Order: sequence, then C-alpha cells, then structure tokens
Amino acid sequence: MDNVDVTIVGGGPVGLYLAGRLLQNGFSCRILEKRESIDIHSKSLGIHPVSLDLFDRADITLPFLEYGLKIETGLAFFDKKPAGKVSFKSCPPPHSYILAIPQWKTEELLEKWVKSLNSDVLLRGAQVNNIVSSDRKEIVSYSHNGSTYQVSSGFVIGCDGKGSFIRKACNISFEGSSYPDTYVMGDFDDNTGFGKKAAVFLHRDGLVESFPLPNGQRRWVVKSDHFIKNPDKSLLINKIFRRTEHYLGKCENYMLSSFGVQHLLAETFHKNNVLLAGDAAHVVSPIGGQGMNLGWIDAEECLKTLIRVRDNSSEKDFHLDAYTSTQRKAAQQVAKRAEINMRLGRKESANIWTRSGLKFVLNSPFKHLLARIFTMRGLGRWPV
Ligand SMILES: Cc1cc2nc3c(=O)[nH]c(=O)nc-3n(C[C@H](O)[C@H](O)[C@H](O)COP(=O)(O)OP(=O)(O)OC[C@H]3O[C@@H](n4cnc5c(N)ncnc54)[C@H](O)[C@@H]3O)c2cc1C
Repeated sequence: MDNVDVTIVGGGPVGLYLAGRLLQNGFSCRILEKRESIDIHSKSLGIHPVSLDLFDRADITLPFLEYGLKIETGLAFFDKKPAGKVSFKSCPPPHSYILAIPQWKTEELLEKWVKSLNSDVLLRGAQVNNIVSSDRKEIVSYSHNGSTYQVSSGFVIGCDGKGSFIRKACNISFEGSSYPDTYVMGDFDDNTGFGKKAAVFLHRDGLVESFPLPNGQRRWVVKSDHFIKNPDKSLLINKIFRRTEHYLGKCENYMLSSFGVQHLLAETFHKNNVLLAGDAAHVVSPIGGQGMNLGWIDAEECLKTLIRVRDNSSEKDFHLDAYTSTQRKAAQQVAKRAEINMRLGRKESANIWTRSGLKFVLNSPFKHLLARIFTMRGLGRWPV
C-alpha cells in the first residue's frame, strides 16, 4: 500500500494546483485522476487577479502570461449602443487585468509544473471507488489497469468535481438548485475589432458576452430561451447578429456548446480527515467566470489548514472548522455575485430603471467598485 501525507482525488485544475502547493511546502501527496488525459472540452477562459497573486506565491505565473491574453477593459452595450466601460487597470497591481486562457491549457501548464516538482505524484487512469476513514488514517481504494490498489494518508482532499465520489462517500449533502437561465457558446475567429477588450451586450432578447481568446479567436456566450441540446452554428451566428450586429458567418468556428446553470453548496467542506475543494464543494454559475478561481482559493486555504494542523495537531478540529466556515462564506458570496451577473442578462432586466442605474455606475467612480467585483476582489469582506 502506498503511504503519503495527503491523497488528492481528482486531477482537474484544483487538484493539480493543490498538489503543487503541497509539494512546495514539504507534504508528500498522490493525485488519483480517472481520466487518461486532459479534458479539452471548453470551460473556463479566465484567470482572475486573485488567482494570479496565488500563482506569484507559487512562482508559476510566467508560462500563463506567455500563453494568455490580458483583458484590461470591458465594454458594455445596451442593445447595440455603447453604454460605458469598466477598466481593470484601476485594480491593485501587478495583475490589473483578467488573463484569458482556455482551461485545457491551464491544466496542461499546472500538470507540467506538478511533474517538474515530482514526476510520480499524478496517477492517471486511477478511478477512486472506496474510502475507509479512521481517527488517524484514510484508506482510499482505486482501480487502475483492471486491478485494485490502495493508498493510505493522514488526509484526503476531494477535488473530484461536481459529482464528487468523495463528497457522496462522506454523506455530505450538496444543496441548491438550477436557475432557469440557459446559454449557447462558441469560439470563432475574431473579426470584431475589439482587440483585447471584452464586451457585454445587455439586449432586450437576452445577454451576449464576448471575450478575446489567445490565437486571434473570440468566445461568444449567448443567452437562449431554453436549453439547446445540439446547438447549431447558424443559430448562434443569427442570435449574435440580431443582438450585436457582429456577423460571424465568414469566421472559422472552433467550438460550439450549450449549458444550463446551477448553484450547489456542500453542507460542510470537511468530515473527519477529509476535505473538499473546488466544484466538489460548490458549483456556481459560469456567468462571471469564477468557479475554477474560487477552487484555487479553496486549495490555498486547504494548504494553510494542513500547515496549521502539522504545526499544532491538538487544534485540528478548530482549523478544519475554520476552513469550512471561511470557504463556505466565500462560495456563498461568489454565487451571489454570479447570480447578479446572470439577472442583469435576463430579458426582464432590459428596463429603463435597471439600465439607468447601470449607466450611472458605469460612468461614475463606482465603476471601480464594479471592476473589483468582476475581478473577485474583496471576498470575505464585502457584503455582495
Ligand atoms: C461552460 C463553462 C464555463 C466556465 N467558465 C469558467 C470561467 O471562465 N472561470 C472559472 O473560474 N470557472 C469557469 N467554469 C467552472 C470551471 O470549469 C470549474 O469550476 C472547474 O473545472 C472546477 O475544477 P475542479 O478541479 O474543482 O473540478 P473538475 O474540473 O471537475 O475536475 C475534477 C476531476 O476529478 C476527476 N474525478 C472525478 N471523479 C473521480 C474519481 N472517482 N476518481 C478519480 N478522479 C475523479 C475528473 O476526471 C476531473 O478531472 C466554467 C464551467 C463551465 C461548464
């Protein structure tokens, strides 16, 4: 049986980041990841400044900056008319921008980093299917190449995503619900002339968001009236044209997908010596682009918690409770911010009162507050 300080279940962006930080701080660990390779399905596109501050601490920012694209400004449109802009340049340095980089690339860079610290830590093709807890040890069983193996550790951290096996095995309830909002999204060659600027169109037929991507591409996220299982390129192009007047018919299309949104929160983020981090602990709406970034904040807090327990094991329960309390609060705040973003994109928000209020904010010093909220600043401190 393998013996390590910490077993991490799930090698997505959160599990990989956590493993790197644990290794840097003298913990031995093992990541068990069921996938044979990185999921290239298009998900997150943005790394927020709060995460880049964490990356600085880990000394891994440079390759992300080399590949990614810095979004320093967001343009707002009411229907097709310019309504104002938000500049992230007013945010605290050095990272006064949101870094656009696809999630698969983020995972690739994190995996490379983890392997550079210890090439044996990540085990792919390892599906976790049992966990047995005792006071001092957690025994995790997994199947790999048709055989079953076990790893024993002082702590297990479930970074195994929304459907988390670890959360379910610990009988931790995951509560929340689906929002009525649904979206279609696609990546196209960029013909807008917006350059590195993001654009948000609050249209009476529903929201359109447009973000620059590396390699001359742009992602479009369009609110739909209902969930469209198999989205069609021409449907997306038509909706974008009607709501923004940008015609993508001649642009190469690289990805099409659709998604609905939920908010889910685990009742606790720890049980015995098991902690949850990332989507295993919370799911927030992708509108606002915060789920993965919040997961990295969890991971950093997990690390601090384990260091405190290593330094003073008699206060273990206190530190684990503090982890749950701090990160549950942060997740609730993030979910609320994402919900505000989503509500603004609904048809019923296209009224004169909402628009006048937003126009006032976008053209007053309050826009700096908006920039801070969009860049995930002030978590744990501010009421929203
Ligand atoms: C359309 C869309 C757009 C998004 N955009 C953004 C954005 O712009 N910004 C942002 O911050 N977030 C965004 N998100 C959210 C982001 O993708 C997630 O929050 C992020 O992937 C969570 O990372 P994770 O590591 O916690 O979980 P996951 O990425 O789900 O990784 C979990 C890993 O655990 C593995 N696993 C699961 N069960 C087992 C098991 N039993 N044994 C072994 N391994 C297992 C899985 O294979 C997987 O690799 C978006 C999501 C979607 C759907």
